[in-house]
Amino acid sequence: MATIDSLPSLSEVIKTHGLAAKKSLGQNFLLDLNLTAKIARQAGDLTGCDVLEVGPGPGGLTRGLLAEGARRVLAVEKDSRCLPALEEIAAAYPGQLSVINGDALEVNPLTALTPPIRVVANLPYNVGTELLVRWLTPKDWPPFWDSLTLMFQREVANRIVAEPGSKAYGRLAILAQWRCEARIVMSLPPEAFSPPPKVHSAVVHLQKRDKPLFEADPKVLSRVVAAGFNQRRKMLRASLKSVAPDIEDRLIASGIKPTERAEQVSIEQFCALARNIAAG
Ligand code: SAM
Repeated sequence: MATIDSLPSLSEVIKTHGLAAKKSLGQNFLLDLNLTAKIARQAGDLTGCDVLEVGPGPGGLTRGLLAEGARRVLAVEKDSRCLPALEEIAAAYPGQLSVINGDALEVNPLTALTPPIRVVANLPYNVGTELLVRWLTPKDWPPFWDSLTLMFQREVANRIVAEPGSKAYGRLAILAQWRCEARIVMSLPPEAFSPPPKVHSAVVHLQKRDKPLFEADPKVLSRVVAAGFNQRRKMLRASLKSVAPDIEDRLIASGIKPTERAEQVSIEQFCALARNIAAG
């Protein structure tokens, strides 16, 4: 039976289990265990936490999470070829690693996790963005997780942490920063992965806030932000006309110039507008 010290290197794991990277599954693997341990540390103190890992692949980051003291890791992986490699890790950490073979967009692993819960993932970017939006917009706040530590294409990471007035500022920045503290904690060049992707990557850490930065009804805020940024070149008095016919008065009452564009409006101002609209 494998022990922590006898686990093979990740390149051996890939060779032994025939894990040739599949483009269709966005497989760019991390093979350096020092690097995966460093990423795991960006998730904060893992001792006493359950971790939901999405897309463990050959298990480099999984090993990092367990080595950094996670109480338990629940990993969701779509590619069944990776299961034998993950079983070896589970044998080295008895009772601490469970694996669900499925699509993270479809399975609901929550009943298997006990708070506090941290989510960590190095996922294909399209799946990552979709999951991020779902995790940021649960029915009730606080969500099931305490923090999200996620690898993204650097351009997407920049959008998550963007400030008003910048080109990258939009719906993702507002969704993320309204109820979380969001920071880029690591940057990785393409060569960190095997095979190397075309773009640079970055790890974003999002720590949930117990209360949002400013009061607002999430549904109204979401509607206003979506309308504003769907037509981001237009002035708000035009792009938000569909939200309320008297939008110009409401913008002024919320301290926003009707001639401004969405990317110039702060989260505080969007929340003021959402409150104004919700008040009827
Ligand atoms: N975590 C590993 C690492 O860092 O080396 C693998 C990262 S690789 C970028 C993405 C992983 O996500 C692959 O193992 C892939 O099979 C898996 N994956 C892709 N789509 C998925 C989905 N919808 N649900 C669960 N896993 C998925």
